[in-house]
Amino acid sequence: MNDSNIVWHDHHVSKSERSEQKNQKACVLWFTGLSGSGKSTIANALESKLYEMGKHTYLLDGDNVRHGLNKDLGFSDQDRIENIRRIGEVSKLFVEAGLITVTAFISPFRSDRKIVRDLVESGEFIEVFIDTPLEICEQRDPKGLYQKARKGEIPTFTGISSPYEHPVSPDIHIQTAHHSVEESVSSIIEYLSQKGYLDASTH
Ligand code: ADP
Repeated sequence: MNDSNIVWHDHHVSKSERSEQKNQKACVLWFTGLSGSGKSTIANALESKLYEMGKHTYLLDGDNVRHGLNKDLGFSDQDRIENIRRIGEVSKLFVEAGLITVTAFISPFRSDRKIVRDLVESGEFIEVFIDTPLEICEQRDPKGLYQKARKGEIPTFTGISSPYEHPVSPDIHIQTAHHSVEESVSSIIEYLSQKGYLDASTH
């Protein structure tokens, strides 16, 4: 493909106009953590709360994206990297649309999360570490995947047979062993509120 013939079109309606119209500051809340750590549960509860508050959001969730956009990808290191790269690009488009975007993917590699952070503007990427010890994730095992992985039925499973690189300095650190879903949602809302994401006047 000849990239030199592809030109980026600037939209007439800008990102900040789209955000202001929604009375918020667009961003991506990038949840990362082990399978079963609580990413989907907390992300859904957070989105419901933001919706109640009249905020405009969109949640991108691991399994759903793998059914469509990324259905050609598996779980090799290379495919995991491409999975996150595409989700990063889609998140960037949602941020351009002025939305508070929430993503819930294991995203095990620091370098991939850094790629997504660098795709969007400074202050638009909020890393949310859903920090749950492996033993607890394994006890919860909401999808029965740990049991399968322990039996060797899943060749590369994060935390068991594939690495998870925890964030070094996440913007938000949630420890689900010590906090309920409601408490976790409140602390994220508190962060967004303090940093001015829930109010267009602080741009
Ligand atoms: P992930 O999206 O990270 O794979 P899920 O949200 O699908 O994880 O599953 C987490 C499971 O843990 C759910 O069954 C949820 O009800 C349970 N759970 C128990 N306590 C908590 C908590 N404090 N925070 C989040 N999830 C919790």
